[in-house]
Amino acid sequence: MLEQLRENLDGVLKKLRGQGTITESNIQDAMREVRRTLLEADVNFTVARDFIRTVTEKALGVRVLKSITPGQQIIKIIHEELTRILGEEHIPLNLGGLPPAVLMLVGLQGSGKTTLAAKLGLHLKSLGKRPLLVAADVYRPAAIDQLVKLGIETGIPVHAEKGVDPLTICRNAMDIARQDNTNVVIVDTAGRLHIDEKMMGELQSLQNFLHPREILFVADGMIGQDAVNSAHEFNQQLSVTGLVLTKMDGDTRGGAALSIKSVTGKPVKFISSGEKPGDLEPFYPDRFADRILGKGDIVSLVEKAQEAVDEKEAEKLEQKLRKNQFTLTDFQKQLRMVKKMGPLGSLMEMIPGFSRLKNVQVDENHFIRTEAILNSMTFQEREMPQVINASRRKRIARGSGTQVSDVNRLLNQFEQMKKMMKKMNKMKLPGKGFNMPR
Ligand code: GDP
Repeated sequence: MLEQLRENLDGVLKKLRGQGTITESNIQDAMREVRRTLLEADVNFTVARDFIRTVTEKALGVRVLKSITPGQQIIKIIHEELTRILGEEHIPLNLGGLPPAVLMLVGLQGSGKTTLAAKLGLHLKSLGKRPLLVAADVYRPAAIDQLVKLGIETGIPVHAEKGVDPLTICRNAMDIARQDNTNVVIVDTAGRLHIDEKMMGELQSLQNFLHPREILFVADGMIGQDAVNSAHEFNQQLSVTGLVLTKMDGDTRGGAALSIKSVTGKPVKFISSGEKPGDLEPFYPDRFADRILGKGDIVSLVEKAQEAVDEKEAEKLEQKLRKNQFTLTDFQKQLRMVKKMGPLGSLMEMIPGFSRLKNVQVDENHFIRTEAILNSMTFQEREMPQVINASRRKRIARGSGTQVSDVNRLLNQFEQMKKMMKKMNKMKLPGKGFNMPR
């Protein structure tokens, strides 16, 4: 996410960091480069111009203060300004008032509405809500099937009907939601390739009927300014309350993220960076600015971990580790918990300094191989690995598409780990979980 923007900015800021004294002329030079970087990142022209103006004014003020670390201070100013254009603070979803709260998802075709419906549903479910997903995108028949499938995958109920108009679908869905004590209704609507009057008319009539607590415009982050322009047009015709940026995993430039709030005046509430239902995170402007400046985002990482880890399960695993009863089945459970946190690459990106370590590769394949090996074992084999003889090793390797040497390595490492745990047993464990053997 945002690799290109971060790299380019890093180059400019490195020069500033090294400056003992800051003169008006080197501020001007640095700001010219920052401006070029922002425009290359596809940031809206006016947003970039205002950004540079404010940072320059504040930076010149710093010189007057004769600070001992002027370079750092300017970076702090850039951080503050980035946070400001990103929206200052996190604005949570409005779910207040009489239930059910309706969230209506709007946007162009392919922007990620249908997948977002499931992502939001899962997020709200993890907060203890009872969501219902409504398939009101009747123009793309596959969208209905896609939502039904996502509903099964996430365990969230879906209201879908074929051969009826979106308004009728929504009316029926609201009746069901009231009967079922559903507290959040998430409506997936139809998008087109381009904005047209008929589509807007339909969305307006859905808006008038549903009185949604939130109308979220779903913007594909990868298309930069085009996403910002569509957001602006939707916002003029509908009462958009917030924005969601999708496909941030593929967005190296960050132009949409940096401009969309300033252009529309509406807050970004979530960003999504993957296709899976778990790949969604609430948007915090200051943390996002940290990521752009390469400071990492430990808080988001911790929150993701908290969401993915079932506390009771983690407690049980810790007890087993303490008593040295930890088996390969428990190891498999741990891997699943980690996997729920999302793609390893995007997790690593949140760790401060990681973005600078260009030669460190995140070996997602190692992770996948380990899980495949564990999945190919029987329960008995995972509980009592001593029964895994040569022919079983061969079978496990075949079943998991790996080599016998991979199976051997995993078993050896697990044995070593158990020995180590035995030694550590008397000591206090540093925390929940352990590192995967490599
Ligand atoms: P809709 O037409 O707006 O309902 O869009 P969909 O939800 O069908 O999404 C279009 C495509 O984008 C699908 O292939 C999704 O899997 C994919 N997609 C959605 N969100 C993300 C994301 O955050 N990252 C990536 N890489 N793909 C996404």
